[in-house]
Amino acid sequence: MTDKKVRVRFAPSPTGPLHMGGVRTALYNYLFAKKHGGDFLLRIEDTDQARFVPGAEEYIMESLRWCGILWDEGVGKEGPHAPYRQSERKELYRQYAEQLIENKMAYYAFDTAEELEAMRKRIEAEKGMAQYDARTRGQMKNSLTLPEEQTRELLESGQPYVVRFKMPENEEIVMQDLIRGTVKVHTSQLDDKVLYKSDGMPTYHLANVVDDYLMEITHVIRGEEWLPSLPLHVMLYRSLGWEERMPQFAHLPLLLKPDGNGKLSKRDGDRLGFPVFPLMWNDPKSGEISSGYRESGYFADAFVNMLAFLGWNPGTEQEVFSMQELVDTFTLERVGKSGSKFDPAKARWFNHQYLLKKDNEEVAALYDLILKDKGIHEPMEKVVKIVSMVKDRVSFVHEIWDQSSFFFLAPESYDEKTVQKKWKEDTPTILLQVVDILNALEDFSVEAIDKALHDYMETQQVGAGKLMIGLRLSLVGAGMGPDLKEIMVLLGKEEVVARIKHAVEVIK
Ligand code: GLU
Repeated sequence: MTDKKVRVRFAPSPTGPLHMGGVRTALYNYLFAKKHGGDFLLRIEDTDQARFVPGAEEYIMESLRWCGILWDEGVGKEGPHAPYRQSERKELYRQYAEQLIENKMAYYAFDTAEELEAMRKRIEAEKGMAQYDARTRGQMKNSLTLPEEQTRELLESGQPYVVRFKMPENEEIVMQDLIRGTVKVHTSQLDDKVLYKSDGMPTYHLANVVDDYLMEITHVIRGEEWLPSLPLHVMLYRSLGWEERMPQFAHLPLLLKPDGNGKLSKRDGDRLGFPVFPLMWNDPKSGEISSGYRESGYFADAFVNMLAFLGWNPGTEQEVFSMQELVDTFTLERVGKSGSKFDPAKARWFNHQYLLKKDNEEVAALYDLILKDKGIHEPMEKVVKIVSMVKDRVSFVHEIWDQSSFFFLAPESYDEKTVQKKWKEDTPTILLQVVDILNALEDFSVEAIDKALHDYMETQQVGAGKLMIGLRLSLVGAGMGPDLKEIMVLLGKEEVVARIKHAVEVIK
């Protein structure tokens, strides 16, 4: 690496919600920048007005903020290269298109949609590759084929035009990619891409290269779908005389569907029961709602950790990484070339790990919101205790309810299978004897209850299995749950006694 300060950018187009693959791209850029003490920029590439979706830009920024992927410069934040929204930089690109035309590396083309279509048909009929390129440009209406005079007239008369890059003939372009190594493409495969339009808007290619140059970007880290654009971008750097300052490129592997068959798409998510977007998205056109990781109960740090592993690994057994640990450990050398399969079970696993890692107080504060929503108001101390008792059984805060509702609501029914198997003829008698013993306890603590129950089982020769399952059914309504004595202490003596008596009455 050179000694220049590392500067990377995430450059999404606001054409819809940010896919989790996009968040991963942003994350890798961020990690790379922070690891090298560099800058991470957010640039909005909105030159394609036809694909602009209202709300998408805000969605992108909110997603990155939620993930803690914060930018040093960019939209919503000042910086020496502002503005960072391409539509606001419009004026800037024209001179570079003109420079290319002057140096005979680009040309004006005036072909209408019908003329382009006719060319396509003609070439397809000859079974050729129907594209605007070195073979076809000589037969089209452009400043290469028209007399200079006529080109000028057309331009002056306000005839719509595009500026096309004049891809050199018969040249092998050799490129370096930090993940893929050497990539070679022959120019005979490439067409004369449009760089600029007479409406004053650059296309993605020109705006992207110009901005990366002007914003002093040192490394372009982006999705594999942009690899086919790399030859043109490299040629643009050369043609504009910027090769010395051309960034290094790294194209990230695709995110694949859970079965590995193809790219993880927007449609896979809700069809297969997991989100593909960081936040919920309400499509302004169709009104369709897509679920988000945040609204599904994922912790941002768990989501980020999971994403980091989709394409990268540290080469050790460690899987749980804080953002700072990711920054310290991340390298592009450990990013794989092949696509990375998304595994929804692993996503849940990560959330479970983070739930376990978090303070009980923090989880309890979140759970308390759910309880309040249900009209349940309990002292925080009790909620914290409950969380500590059940959190190893769940992956999400909202799942705590299923594991702990009995603390707040007495069972209304009793798990039938357990009753049939475990509720014996003498169970009621035993339980009522236990009620007397519990009632007599002055100290209703785990230790005291434990001792009392043990003494009872010993003197009456009652098996622990039978007694415990009867108590559990009475208190929880099912044969599961955390430690019984702790449940009793939290419920309090009165409630415990009432529940046991009720069960004895109701269960036949
Ligand atoms: N605007 C492009 C996108 O939406 C940026 C690609 C790049 O990073 O060069 O992904």
